[in-house]
Amino acid sequence: MSNYELEFQIREIIIYALKRRVNYEGFVKAIVKALYPNLSIYAEPELVRKLKALIELINNTEKPKTPYDMPIEEVKQITANWKGSKYLVDDLGLPEIYEILRYSMQLGRNINLTRILAFINPWGNTAAFKLAFDEGSMREIARNYVTDFIRGQDELVHEIFGKFMNIEDLISSMNNKLRTNIIHLVKHDLEIKDNSLLIMADHGYDIECESAMCRLCHGNGCIKPIFSLITPLVILR
Ligand SMILES: [Zn+2]
Repeated sequence: MSNYELEFQIREIIIYALKRRVNYEGFVKAIVKALYPNLSIYAEPELVRKLKALIELINNTEKPKTPYDMPIEEVKQITANWKGSKYLVDDLGLPEIYEILRYSMQLGRNINLTRILAFINPWGNTAAFKLAFDEGSMREIARNYVTDFIRGQDELVHEIFGKFMNIEDLISSMNNKLRTNIIHLVKHDLEIKDNSLLIMADHGYDIECESAMCRLCHGNGCIKPIFSLITPLVILR
């Protein structure tokens, strides 16, 4: 079963940001500001407030004790029976989910039909997700559920964004790489009218800052994993 409170808040944040016409970079800035209020960057105040509430919710949500306790039966069922396009993504952050919805809206898709199921991945990594699925690798999961497998996002998070850089550089580089990459990969399927898409990911990532130097991390690669603990299932109709 999806964590409904989590699902509800994520949805509200995304719908709010879309209404305010926040772009990808603005969305990332709001996340950074919610995590680090003292950093001198500007972000939409109400969006920051909503993200702070989400952070609190994630921190206070009871986590599954082990990966086997992740309630992902629903994910397996929906994915196995899905008729439209299917993707399995290694590492999908909230900003990229936002961007996929933003792009869908630009294409004229009805965002109200979108659902973003959310689960807590207790370790915030691929290993926990594989255990929850009881499969040996992400490729095996992709093969058994007949999904495309996108692993480039996680590689970017580690190879490019794993080291600290100036916050402005980090955000513009995320915009050039993480955003561009995911849109490039799902664009074609999104543009097909009446095609429904399912995008499943194993975990997200966090933004970690020391003064104005920041980097991306997930799971135990972070001092305090928060957003990386989200395992999303995005359904676009
Ligand atoms: Zn990783």
